[in-house]
Amino acid sequence: MKCKFDLGWSGKCKSDAIKGKEYCEEHLEVKCKSCGIQATHLCGETGQFVCGAPLCDDCTHNVSPRGDNGGIGFGYPKLPDDWKEHCKKSDQKYAPWYVKPKFLDLWKKENNIPEDVEVILTYRD
Ligand SMILES: [Zn+2]
Ligand SMILES: [Zn+2]
Ligand SMILES: [Zn+2]
Repeated sequence: MKCKFDLGWSGKCKSDAIKGKEYCEEHLEVKCKSCGIQATHLCGETGQFVCGAPLCDDCTHNVSPRGDNGGIGFGYPKLPDDWKEHCKKSDQKYAPWYVKPKFLDLWKKENNIPEDVEVILTYRD
């Protein structure tokens, strides 16, 4: 069996999983950067670089109050100190700037965010 770790832009991990486990030696016990359980994939958010943080299925890149991903790389205005780069999907507070009000539900669905989670639109024309 192949390791089921998803490397994001480069696809699934091609190594063999450890016998009886779902992940290869490299990815077994890689912890989610947000909540600390077994990570399943690498964050695919991009700025100047790909974020690449290990995450579980319940966690996601946090959308900043500006509607961007907080800036991956440098030269971005600083965000409040208590702003975290990653959060639980159900703790997502803002929708990205490119999400139009009428597409909010679709965006939630695509990102597996529960429908009853209220997110603030940051859409700019
Ligand atoms: Zn692997
Ligand atoms: Zn997590
Ligand atoms: Zn990320």
